[in-house]
Amino acid sequence: MGAIVAIVGRPNVGKSTFFNRLIQRREAIVDASSGVTRDRHYGKSDWNGKEFSLIDTGGYVLGSDDIFEQEIDKQVELAIEEADAIIFMVDVETGVTGMDEDVAKLLRRVNKPVFLAVNKVDNSMREEDAVEFYSLGLGDYYTLSSINGSGTGELLDALVEKLPEGEKEESELPRFAVVGRPNAGKSSFINALIGEERYIVTDIAGTTRDSIDTTYNRFGFEFNLVDTAGIRRKSKVKEDLEFYSVMRSVRAIENCDVCLLLLDATRGFDGQVENIFWLAARNNKGIVILVNKWDLVEDKETNTIKQYTQKIKKAIEPFTDVPILFISVLTKQRIFKAIETAVEVYQNRSKKIKTREFNDVMLPLIENYPPPAYKGKYVKIKFCTQLPTPYPQFAFFCNLPQYVRDPYKRYLENKIREEFDFTGVPIKVFMRKK
Ligand code: GDP
Ligand code: GDP
Repeated sequence: MGAIVAIVGRPNVGKSTFFNRLIQRREAIVDASSGVTRDRHYGKSDWNGKEFSLIDTGGYVLGSDDIFEQEIDKQVELAIEEADAIIFMVDVETGVTGMDEDVAKLLRRVNKPVFLAVNKVDNSMREEDAVEFYSLGLGDYYTLSSINGSGTGELLDALVEKLPEGEKEESELPRFAVVGRPNAGKSSFINALIGEERYIVTDIAGTTRDSIDTTYNRFGFEFNLVDTAGIRRKSKVKEDLEFYSVMRSVRAIENCDVCLLLLDATRGFDGQVENIFWLAARNNKGIVILVNKWDLVEDKETNTIKQYTQKIKKAIEPFTDVPILFISVLTKQRIFKAIETAVEVYQNRSKKIKTREFNDVMLPLIENYPPPAYKGKYVKIKFCTQLPTPYPQFAFFCNLPQYVRDPYKRYLENKIREEFDFTGVPIKVFMRKK
C-alpha cells in the first residue's frame, strides 16, 4: 500500500490532463468526442522510484457548469481524509477565482503536504501571471503545463520527497493490537503469545507510525504486535485507571490492522468494552472479540455460548459480522484459534476484489432490487468498484447519488458481506456521481 496523492481543484483547470500524463495510460485518457465518462480516476504512478496512487477527485464531478461548490468541498474533504498529499491545481489562464479561494481555505487548515500547482503555464510569459496565486495563502507554488509536460518534474520531485515511505503490501505483516479493559487478561494473553522463549524475530522501527512493532512468529503465523512493550510495562505498574487504558487503546488501535478485543467473561460486554469496540470500528480496523476467562464460567450448557454471543451482537448492531471466540488464556483454550481468526480478519481487510468480478456479482443483485424511487426520481447504478484504500471501501456510480438512502446502502453492504467474506472488517459504501 503506497502513498495516496489526490488532485483537487475546480473543473477545467487541467486535473485530468495532468492525471493522465502521470499515469501514462492511454486508456485513461478522456474520450471527449464519444462522451464516454471516464471510470478511472485512480492510478498508480511513480517518480524517482517511489510509487504512489493518484486520485483525480475531479473525475467524480460531471460536466463543468452544473458543479456545485458544495460538491467540490466534499471532494476536497474526502481527499484531505484519504490522501497523504494533495495537489491543488489552479489555472493561470483564468487566474484566481472564488472557488479557488474556497478550496484554499479548506486546504490551509490541513497538516498534510499541499502542493499548489499553477497549470497551463505553457510559456515563460505566463510565468509572471502566476504570481497572483500567492494570494491563496498557501505559500510557494509550482508552475507547469500539463499539456506539454514542462514543470511537472519539479512538482513531482517535491511531491515524492514529502510522501511517507510506502510499505509493500505483499511483505507486510498483520499488525495486531490487544485491547480491552484493565484486568481482561491482555498481558496474560500477550505473554501466552510470546511464550517463554519469546518468539521475537526482529524489531522494526515504525517508519510512518510513531510506535515500534515487534514481530512474532507463533503457531505458524508471523505478525506484529503493536505497542506490546507499553502493555507489558504497564502490567508491572498495575494502574487500573480506565482513562489510561482508553488512551492507550486509542494509540494501539490507530497503529494496528486488527484489534483483538479482550473481555472478562465474568464481567461481560459492558459499556466500556463497547466504547473500545466502536473506537476500533470507527477507525476501520479489523476486530476479533475474545471472551476471555471462559474457564471461570461454570454453567456452560450448550446454549450459554449462543446466548452470550447474541447479547454481544445486540450491543454491536448493525456491525455484527464480527468473530466472537470464547477463550481461556489460563488454560490456553482456543489461543491458537484466536490468532488464526485474527489472521483471517487481516486477510479480509486487505482483500481486493477485481472490478470486473465485483460488477458481475453486484449489478444483477442491484437490478433485482434497485434503489427505491425517491421524490419521484429513479436512481440507476451503472458501475461499482472497490477503492484502492487500506481498508475496504466501495463506490457505486450512479446518476443521482444523493437520492440513495441509508437503508439501501446497508442492503448493498449486506450483499457485499454475503457474497465476499468481510467478517470482522468495517466496510464503507459510497454513492458517487457518474
Ligand atoms: P479538469 O476538469 O480539471 O480535469 O480539466 P481537463 O484536464 O479536462 O482540462 C480542461 C481543459 O484545459 C482541456 O481543454 C485541456 O486540454 C486544457 N488544458 C489542460 N492542461 C493544459 C495546459 O497545461 N495548457 C493548456 N493550454 N491547456 C490545458
Ligand atoms: P490486563 O490488565 O488486561 O493486562 O490483565 P492481566 O493479564 O493482568 O490479567 C488480570 C488477571 O486475570 C490476572 O490475575 C490473570 O491471571 C487473570 N487471568 C487472565 N486470563 C485468565 C483466564 O483465562 N482465566 C482466568 N481464570 N484468569 C485469567
